[in-house]
Amino acid sequence: MGEIIEILEELDPFFFRIKFTVTGEERVVSVDPDKRALFHLHDDKTLPPMACPFLRQTSNKKYVCAVHTSRPELCCRYSCYRILVLDSQERTVGRVTDATRYFITGDADLRRLWNREIACVKILDEKCWEEHVEQTLIRSGYRVIR
Ligand code: SF4
Repeated sequence: MGEIIEILEELDPFFFRIKFTVTGEERVVSVDPDKRALFHLHDDKTLPPMACPFLRQTSNKKYVCAVHTSRPELCCRYSCYRILVLDSQERTVGRVTDATRYFITGDADLRRLWNREIACVKILDEKCWEEHVEQTLIRSGYRVIR
């Protein structure tokens, strides 16, 4: 999601004008009042590579969205995701949840492809793994947003 959500302007320490690069949607988001301390006192090392700038890890190792209340529409529809998979008609057919490699799909063909060419491949580096996922799915005619 780090490539998907772009901060265009910091309006104040807790208000940001952002752009959702997939849809072009622009909006102002605000850090939820109960997450303000966490938002500014975080350690980048606790976040996965390419994480959304508003993702934070709590003291009990849970990932939370710091702007949950005002998050963009696409986040509301699909929750926080790491990779979104669209078919040739731009329908969402699968997603990897943020900060994990956990893949969700209701499409049997896509699940078979995932199990055959992605799930069984051992790639430790997260960025390389995402690139492998993207290339594999693109070769099979899917579009990948990450
Ligand atoms: S839901 Fe996830 S991707 Fe969306 S703003 Fe929050 S942390 Fe970022």
